Amino acid sequence: MFFDTHAHYDDERFDNDRDAVLKSLPEAGIGAVVNPGCTADSSRAAIALAERYDIVYAAVGLHPENCAGADEADFAALEALAAHPKAVAIGEIGLDYYWEENPPRAFQKEVMARQMALAEQLDLPVVIHDRDAHGDCMDMVRAFPGVRGEFHCYSGSVEDARILLDRGWYLGFGGALTFKNARKAPEVAAYAPLDRLLLETDSPYLAPVPFRGKRNDSRYLPYVAERIAAIKGICAEEAERITWENALRFFALEGTR
Ligand SMILES: [Zn+2]
Repeated sequence: MFFDTHAHYDDERFDNDRDAVLKSLPEAGIGAVVNPGCTADSSRAAIALAERYDIVYAAVGLHPENCAGADEADFAALEALAAHPKAVAIGEIGLDYYWEENPPRAFQKEVMARQMALAEQLDLPVVIHDRDAHGDCMDMVRAFPGVRGEFHCYSGSVEDARILLDRGWYLGFGGALTFKNARKAPEVAAYAPLDRLLLETDSPYLAPVPFRGKRNDSRYLPYVAERIAAIKGICAEEAERITWENALRFFALEGTR
């Protein structure tokens, strides 16, 4: 079975067929999905999906692109949602310096730090979004040595990957790994130990080749597993089994599935 560690089924692009897609996942070999939140409302929606579907778990968090105006009420809401039995991580949190219209960097950092502190307090792993902000994200990792987590859709260097791996962090890879122009990601995937890799789709975004540009969903995850298997020189079944076990360990779900 496959574990999709990152899919946004609360996204409006699933409004017309969300139930049909989610119901079809088990027969497609998808055994579990973590749906990260991007705002307090989207975190609430993630929890609602987790309550409704056995295979869905939630992460709760404020995404850097969506954190404008984040206030105490939002942090209190996250803390309350994180107490839910199917809330398995704080995410997706992080820094995004790519889009100019994103909230100011200092504010993004403040919001991320609050959520790193919350993860530490609740002893939950974090799911990090890092776009064009590698240096500041690494500083945040160093500032919270008690926090463990994952960089989703990892796009950093092998050097930064080594620092993260040494600190017990995991790296998530998705459709971007299958793109023809992918350079750094395959290099890092080759370097990282197999037991620290997590598979993800980031649905509805980043559909793997040969579906690039289409709406993504977890049923395309096997294409990512195949790419990982090819990079590691193992069979697809082994990549599937090992990444499944990695995700159970990472989200502390061992013995529950
Ligand atoms: Zn995401």
